[in-house]
Amino acid sequence: MKRKIFMIAAVLFAGVCAMQAAKPKVIAHRGYWNTAGAAQNSIRSLVKADSIGCYASEFDVWMTPDSVMIVNHDPTINGVVIQNTPAAEVRKEKLSNGETVPTLDEYLETAKGLNTRLVLELKTHDSRAREKAAVKKSVDMIKKYGLADRTDYIVFSKDAFKEFIKVAPKGSKVYFLNGDYTPGQIKFAKGAGIDYSLKVMKKHPEWIKECHDKGLEVNVWTVNEPEDMKWCIEQGVDYITTNEPERLQQMLK
Ligand code: MG
Repeated sequence: MKRKIFMIAAVLFAGVCAMQAAKPKVIAHRGYWNTAGAAQNSIRSLVKADSIGCYASEFDVWMTPDSVMIVNHDPTINGVVIQNTPAAEVRKEKLSNGETVPTLDEYLETAKGLNTRLVLELKTHDSRAREKAAVKKSVDMIKKYGLADRTDYIVFSKDAFKEFIKVAPKGSKVYFLNGDYTPGQIKFAKGAGIDYSLKVMKKHPEWIKECHDKGLEVNVWTVNEPEDMKWCIEQGVDYITTNEPERLQQMLK
């Protein structure tokens, strides 16, 4: 009898551990911008993501023709095309919260003093050569600020995906965003996992187990609605990228 009770307790304990291990981590999409005083990809949104204890804060990066890395989602800011415009010109532009559009230097300088991890998305540039240069520049800057062990890389471009895997320091995690590599292809390329849209994941929920079986991780974007958050949690994904980090944190409690 005692033995049986012990066995049941052990199984229950293992179950609780598995449930805890399966809890997805919260990543603020473009920082925590959906809050007073912040804007997408602003320094303020990074600080806010850190202040509420997000596991990581995601942001987007472009490189100007004079090789300055700029943090912004769209290829343009107030009509100025970042990859075609010298940094001094780009830096005249303001975000909706009044901040000057940040350089990656400013962003990383702030990140250094925070605890949240960084998810650096390098946007797809207009030539392979520029993209290759932008990958190297990103990795060098992360190293320069001592953030190599706190930064993950994400990309839509297949070239940039392979290039990050090649040049990022050993142990760096690189995830693919575009939704059209199978877990087998990600494993073969030595990527850390998939970071796919909710739409792709609902079409291929079997990829979650397939990734885990191969030792890969699964991140899903951009999950804002409670029912979608619930779906991701039940499916056992590793990370959820959201514009509503506090809502997700509440749900995970
Ligand atoms: Mg992004």
